[in-house]
Amino acid sequence: MKIRQIQAYQILDSRGIPTIKCVLTLHDGMRMSACVPSGASTGAAEAYELRDGDTKRFFGKSVTKAINNIHTIIAPELLEKELSCADVDSTLLKLDGTHNKSNLGANALLAVSMAAVRAQACVEQKELYDFIHQAFLFQHKALPSCMFNIINGGMHANNGLSFQEFLIVPKNKQRIIDILDCASTIYHTLKNLLKEQKLSTNVGDEGGFAPCFSKVGFENEQEALSLIARALQQAGYSNSDVGMSLDVAATSFYDAEKNIYNVSGRAVTREELLTFYQQCVDNFSLLSIEDGITESDWQGWQEMNQQLGDKTAIVGDDLFVTDTKKIQQGISLDAANAVLIKPNQIGTVSETVQAIKCAQKAGYKVVISHRSGETNDSFIADLAVGCGADYIKAGAPVRGERVAKYNRLLEIEQALSSI
Ligand code: PEP
Ligand code: MG
Repeated sequence: MKIRQIQAYQILDSRGIPTIKCVLTLHDGMRMSACVPSGASTGAAEAYELRDGDTKRFFGKSVTKAINNIHTIIAPELLEKELSCADVDSTLLKLDGTHNKSNLGANALLAVSMAAVRAQACVEQKELYDFIHQAFLFQHKALPSCMFNIINGGMHANNGLSFQEFLIVPKNKQRIIDILDCASTIYHTLKNLLKEQKLSTNVGDEGGFAPCFSKVGFENEQEALSLIARALQQAGYSNSDVGMSLDVAATSFYDAEKNIYNVSGRAVTREELLTFYQQCVDNFSLLSIEDGITESDWQGWQEMNQQLGDKTAIVGDDLFVTDTKKIQQGISLDAANAVLIKPNQIGTVSETVQAIKCAQKAGYKVVISHRSGETNDSFIADLAVGCGADYIKAGAPVRGERVAKYNRLLEIEQALSSI
């Protein structure tokens, strides 16, 4: 493909914070775009998100410097050349020259990288998921299982819950519409349950409910899990129909100086945390635990994987930050058995693909994930199908930026079933 023009501009993400939309115009006039999401509970080693820091606008969160980098540094190297999307990514990596993309900004790089993948798919007249599957030589193409975050806590709410995400995972359902029916039914049953208990039905950043919990220690987390278990049952489902998962995001409440975790006002040791997970796995047959231990404690991860890894998926998010080197480290230490994949943690689609392949080769489960600050871009739905991921995690089955991903899966399902 030959790119004639690259235009980037600021749009708002789902939290009302600026992010980048990038539009590529090809020589035949075709225009393809991509939007970049943004995290709140970020891993320390995530690629660098470049923001202006000028507090007069958007609390310093504007992204005009990153956009300027696209227009003045990136575009001149990409325009009017015959390039594949792989060539685009290697040019981006060369121009930035750092592992964490601190020169040009991972947000600048990813906007161009995703738009280039879309553009090439279009030139080849392929659906995005098909293009990803074929161009990156993935072994499988399949619709993933879906993880829905229906109670929000941690840095995505302000409600006394230390753990960040309480998720449901419909099992044994073949069709996306049936998966959505199940998730939506449980979501609305939970809403009624909260109302009955005079708890707030306001939602957090990812559309899950965020009622206030006022107990100390694990009692709040216990209550959230019990509420979901009740909703699930009231909606007519059992544990064998619907699994439950946690994204603890433990780094967000870890006190490195004291080497303890602050769980709703109680200081908790690593061992106590692991004991609680063991109880949760036993009582709620948890399907997965994400970021159960802080990202710097590899030994803790090894212990967690040893104790629980044969019963539940041990998912590394902040631990791995979609970085192949870190995933390789995790594999060699036997620290986890699953990975969360977020393209903006690493900064280009090529490196994201490399991370997925590394994890798949080791037999890890792969979860493709949204960010808490999202746009209506549904790239990750195509990515999940094209790479044959086990799961996609895109928030609650409500709110436009979340359902954009699930609705795209419906569209892909239609396309696949009519072949
Ligand atoms: C997560 O931690 O998995 C997540 C989606 O949240 P954030 O985007 O804030 O990192
Ligand atoms: Mg996470």
